[in-house]
Amino acid sequence: MSTQQVSSKEKIKELWAKRPIIVSGPCSAETEEQVIETAQQLAATGKVDMLRAGIWKPRTKPGMFEGIGAKGLPWLQKAKQITGLPTAIEVATAKQVQDALTFDVDVLWIGARTTVNPFSVQEVADALRGVDVPVLVKNPINPDLELWSGGVERIARAGIKNLGLIHRGFSSYGNTQYRNAPMWHLAIEMKLKYPELPIFNDPSHICGKRDTLMEVAQKAIDLDYDGLMIESHIDPDNAWSDAKQQVTPARLKEMMEEIIWRKEDVDNSEYHKALEKLRQQINHLDDEMLQILSQRMKIADQIGQYKKDNNITILQPGRWQEIIDKVAMRGEKLGLSRDFLNKYLDAVHLESINHQKKVLDA
Ligand code: PEP
Ligand code: MN
Repeated sequence: MSTQQVSSKEKIKELWAKRPIIVSGPCSAETEEQVIETAQQLAATGKVDMLRAGIWKPRTKPGMFEGIGAKGLPWLQKAKQITGLPTAIEVATAKQVQDALTFDVDVLWIGARTTVNPFSVQEVADALRGVDVPVLVKNPINPDLELWSGGVERIARAGIKNLGLIHRGFSSYGNTQYRNAPMWHLAIEMKLKYPELPIFNDPSHICGKRDTLMEVAQKAIDLDYDGLMIESHIDPDNAWSDAKQQVTPARLKEMMEEIIWRKEDVDNSEYHKALEKLRQQINHLDDEMLQILSQRMKIADQIGQYKKDNNITILQPGRWQEIIDKVAMRGEKLGLSRDFLNKYLDAVHLESINHQKKVLDA
């Protein structure tokens, strides 16, 4: 191992212990100048711990920019030499792992489209056997915790010691507020399942646009995430991929200054800290339940319109009994009392009827 590699390993060890860990850089490496300039501007902010860049880009549709490929690896190596920032890239095949390691990439991550495919994750895991490099596993694109933890376990079984998680949200159908719905409760569940693994939040791929990045980043910090991965670009509007969600290094610096970093209150007892964390989880889940209930009522409105157009009564006793039976059975299995389920169902039903009535009367 060269002296440079040794110092690089030391740096990573230190980095893994730091909180929060801030990772930033372009969605894609595009040109040598863009990579170097972004890295220099990021380093100058004094807020960034690691440089990210996509070298191979898994794109949903063909014909889009699919990454500069291995040609971009020396640019990252040079950016590291100049700025001292360790580097991180996404890998999806054995060849990509080998290429990344040849060019001293410090941290590898498995992308969301790879985590969904156990064959691909296994191929990457096999290529990592005997290698000492930290690996971050992004959540799969679908909300499947088994698949996410399966990915983590495959990499762990290959002998990788420094593992971490990246929460980048889950894709859904139709127009939503997010590019990928955060479904915070799923990430929280992973955090509880693997308390020893650092968890990063990726507001860029959750939001898909710049204006809501702060909100999501703050929420992640409030939820005690260990780090953030945020895409940045010297000229975001002209980025070759994910242009809408990238920010300039200057904006990233502002964001890092605006975020309220939650400190551990040493004056408070352990008990109070634990309580506070649980309360925050409750607040976020309540928020999520409200959003889901509101979505449910919007569908009720649509049904109301349909009934109106076809002159059908709002109350359909058969259908409602079916819902009661199903929800009560499933709810009880999930540990909720029958009494609570009855009240909950009554309230939801009444609200739903009121919504439909409004549509009928309109
Ligand atoms: C990325 O980080 O640029 C990326 C492709 O992310 P994801 O795998 O979350 O879509
Ligand atoms: Mn991207």
